Amino acid sequence: MARRFSGLITSENPNPMYGGGRNDVGIDRIVIHHNATTNKNIAMSTWYTGSGNWTSAHYEVTPTEIIGCVEESYAAYHCGGTGGSDVPKMSNPNERSIGIENVNSTGAPSWSVDPRTVANTAKLVRDICNYYGIPCDRRHVLAHNEVTATACPGGLDVDEVVRLANGGSAATPVQPVAPNPKPATSNIPSGFKPENGTFVNGDTEIMNRVGTPSTSAQQGGYLPPNGEWVYDSWAKVGNYTWIHHVYNGQHIYLPVREWPRGTAWGTFK
Ligand SMILES: [Zn+2]
Repeated sequence: MARRFSGLITSENPNPMYGGGRNDVGIDRIVIHHNATTNKNIAMSTWYTGSGNWTSAHYEVTPTEIIGCVEESYAAYHCGGTGGSDVPKMSNPNERSIGIENVNSTGAPSWSVDPRTVANTAKLVRDICNYYGIPCDRRHVLAHNEVTATACPGGLDVDEVVRLANGGSAATPVQPVAPNPKPATSNIPSGFKPENGTFVNGDTEIMNRVGTPSTSAQQGGYLPPNGEWVYDSWAKVGNYTWIHHVYNGQHIYLPVREWPRGTAWGTFK
């Protein structure tokens, strides 16, 4: 009965990710998440075994992709709570559920999700409900924050997901992403000097501030297709995840969570 992935996937992520047995618990819930990042590869890399995070999800959804991550026959670690007083509101939350992660189209504080991503997740929800005989309603398709205490799924509207999964039409028409959205300003480190929504050309101050990534950086090695971040390593320094770019021969670090796709950047020599 158990299957590996929905037939709707556009690719599989081949990297081993955290997962466990379902202990004969039947699948009767779907839990919806947002990545809390606009970079799908950063999100998925946090689920790799060896990352030390002990988190994972079955699917990663973007405006153009449904990526198989953890096979449905295994439990993924996406809604089990963090321990202490964070007690999940249902029994066996991971064993009984399938977790769907959605990439964000903007960062804090709105954490929006592109309507195309929402539509893809709705298709996937419909398919999973059909396969396992799960009623496609809000009692069985849940937001992460309906299971444990969390801000997830950010700006993603699970009511909309379920409505679309049941054949409804989108509440708002699909809009193209603005070419240069003004970045959130709340978490910009003091070394960066955003000006009219772009980085101004910087100086050695920034490289000095983030000089440690070369020692703590984790190799990513991604060269994603059109429009995605291109980088070859990243690092967590303080509260920020920094991505190292080589752009026209110059080394650039950007904090990944703060800057949506299309944000212009300065260069730091
Ligand atoms: Zn979540």
